[in-house]
Amino acid sequence: MLEVTPVPAFRDNYIWLIHSPEDRTRVIAVDPGDANPVLSLLNTRRWELSGILVTHHHADHTGGVPRLAGHYGCPVYGPRSEIIPARTRAVEDSETVAFPSLGLRFSVLEVPGHTAGHIAYYGHGAVFCGDTLFSGGCGRLFEGTPEQMLRSLDALAALPEETRVYCTHEYTESNLAFAAAVEPDNGDIQAYRERCADIRAQGQPTLPSTLERERTINPFLRVDEASVRAAALARGAAAGRVGVFAAIRAWKDEF
Ligand code: ZN
Ligand code: FE
Repeated sequence: MLEVTPVPAFRDNYIWLIHSPEDRTRVIAVDPGDANPVLSLLNTRRWELSGILVTHHHADHTGGVPRLAGHYGCPVYGPRSEIIPARTRAVEDSETVAFPSLGLRFSVLEVPGHTAGHIAYYGHGAVFCGDTLFSGGCGRLFEGTPEQMLRSLDALAALPEETRVYCTHEYTESNLAFAAAVEPDNGDIQAYRERCADIRAQGQPTLPSTLERERTINPFLRVDEASVRAAALARGAAAGRVGVFAAIRAWKDEF
């Protein structure tokens, strides 16, 4: 299984460091919004940064890229249709990002909705999905339509159920509070909420999650469930799964 180290940044971001299975001292950083915590961890552990993967253009995902790339002289991958500072390789849907000497390779999935060009990186049983899918929730629609975001979430949900989900933010507890409001009778949400409260009380990340778990607790992956549809219709949702998704997303925005 892929070894991944979380680097907490800002209030609730994680910068994920993916270790090479060939040499665990070589790592790839995902969405380094801040260079400082990454540099200090790399220096302490004597790890080497060999690459950077960026999911979208927001500053909390890109702010540390120029300094880290300058310091380590490593390649920077990012979505072709967005402006990414210090990017050296623009990638798009279905392309492969390979680091042969590290024994790592990822395929690129286009997942627009939070931003227009948002991408995710999938490989080695893990998906690095930025601000598209969160545990118990999904990203806000800053640049995309509900239809686009639902299609993106459908594409992520179609990956194997054991896929580990590495999102950028620790939003799980507040997302689960909302999920419980949408589905008050969902026992999986209740149980997972209690478990996450314990995990957070110990100062640990609730991530990664798995797609198998998200399918049971995440209302945005459950728009076909009768319970979620009924809750959305009660809030005036338009008919159809896009209508259900849009109503739940709008409800979350004001929750
Ligand atoms: Zn974002
Ligand atoms: Fe973010």
